[in-house]
Amino acid sequence: MPEPQPHPASPLFKDLTGKKFDKLIARFYAGKNAKGYSLWHCRCKCGGERTVVASELISGRAPSCQACAQLQRKKKDWRRLEFSPRRCK
Ligand SMILES: [Zn+2]
Repeated sequence: MPEPQPHPASPLFKDLTGKKFDKLIARFYAGKNAKGYSLWHCRCKCGGERTVVASELISGRAPSCQACAQLQRKKKDWRRLEFSPRRCK
C-alpha cells in the first residue's frame, strides 16, 4: 500500500485527486514509477485499490482495479463461448 506523496511543483503535474475514471477514483498521488511517470493510488467501485500511472487513467486504459478487469475479461470469454458455433457430430 503506497503512501501519499507531496505533489511535485512541475507545471506539467496534473492533480487528479478525487477525479473519477470509470470505476476508479484517484485518492492520492503516490510518487513516480521507475520510468518517471506519475502514479495515482485509486479506489475502485468494488472497494478494491490499485496504483495506476496517470496517463493510463486519463486515456481510459485502466478503468478499474485488477480484480474487476479480470472479471470483465472472464465475462467476455463467456460471451465468446456462448456465441461460438457449436459443432454437431
Ligand atoms: Zn474493482
